Amino acid sequence: MRFPIEKFKTLRTPFYYYDTELLDETLSAIKAETDKHAGYHLHYAVKACANPKVLRHIIAAGMGADCVSGGEIEACLKAGFPADEIVFAGVGKCDWEIELGLKVGIQYFNVESIPELEVINEIACRMNKMAHVSFRINPNVDAHTHSNITTGLAENKFGIAMEDMEKIIKLADSLPNVTFVGLHFHIGSQILDMDNFIALCHRINELQDRLEAEGIKEVKNINVGGGLGIDYENPDGHPIPDFKKYFDTYSQHLKLRPGQHLHFELGRAVVGQCGNLMTRCLYVKQGSTKKFVIVDAGMTELIRPALYDAYHKVENLTSKAPTEIYDVVGPICESSDTFVKDYPMAETKRGDLLAIRSAGAYGEIMASQYNCRSIPQGYVSEDI
Ligand SMILES: *Cc1c(COP(=O)(O)O)cnc(C)c1O
Repeated sequence: MRFPIEKFKTLRTPFYYYDTELLDETLSAIKAETDKHAGYHLHYAVKACANPKVLRHIIAAGMGADCVSGGEIEACLKAGFPADEIVFAGVGKCDWEIELGLKVGIQYFNVESIPELEVINEIACRMNKMAHVSFRINPNVDAHTHSNITTGLAENKFGIAMEDMEKIIKLADSLPNVTFVGLHFHIGSQILDMDNFIALCHRINELQDRLEAEGIKEVKNINVGGGLGIDYENPDGHPIPDFKKYFDTYSQHLKLRPGQHLHFELGRAVVGQCGNLMTRCLYVKQGSTKKFVIVDAGMTELIRPALYDAYHKVENLTSKAPTEIYDVVGPICESSDTFVKDYPMAETKRGDLLAIRSAGAYGEIMASQYNCRSIPQGYVSEDI
């Protein structure tokens, strides 16, 4: 990744910087792979990054959107996604969010419980609309990822239990204002081992066989969610995830029925590598056992290390000095406000510019105002 360091000089840190050249290359790589398979379509998972300038590139690439709140639907419409390219998931949809989805005419709701289906039907009835619904089934497939980002186990709050699948499809048939259009799955995030997706494919094959055996009519769409991971250790070695391997895995293992559409909801894999949190060194402090690089960004700008123990590569962009060992920490009054520990990095001094890499997904969007800090700016290449 090339950073326009000269042009950063006048910008106040911390801020997010998105390399839109890399984003566009990533989007082209996805399109090249999905185009090879009939009926494959991607709805970008907006919760990974909703920066409107980033969304514009994703819209230009012809992708739809996967939203998990009314606010995201509003952000998508404002950015220019067509309403009928938006799908809407979430275990706790409020009435106003369901009303919004129906009013603007989203493609379908990914419904996560029987009571939710009943409420959607009631609201649709009141609004004289037909709601297209897909059922999020909890496939009880372990994604072997961090426990906070595993979503497809029976113990997780997400989705409808497999044993209730037929019941909810039959219920939808009996309700006047909902139309059943598909099944939805999402097992977790930052998944790099394809075996996890293969396990999901096998489970979906089983469920489709079961539906056929019970004479349940056609399922128009299968939606397999997202979850493809990125290389946080080596962002320059693997700036673009292996989309060929990912889509080929589904093509080889998932038995789609004739005419069936396959929907994907990738988030992290689309935007993760193009984003960086830019920060400056405020102080270098020698503690009794450690040397600390104290930077002006903290867990308020990037919470992943504190929340998930996540690793982000930290790079001093302005020092060519030999390596020293540091803990790189933020200014927030929490011990978890640490980016990396015992970390080798070019000798750092006050004023050096550092890039915290692979921060495009679940970075800017999770920023908080804790300690009364401001939400960081997000710049794209063309702004600078
Ligand atoms: C978060 C989420 C995604 C995207 O996950 P990534 O790991 O970023 O690809 C997709 N679908 C649903 C329903 C989600 O909640």
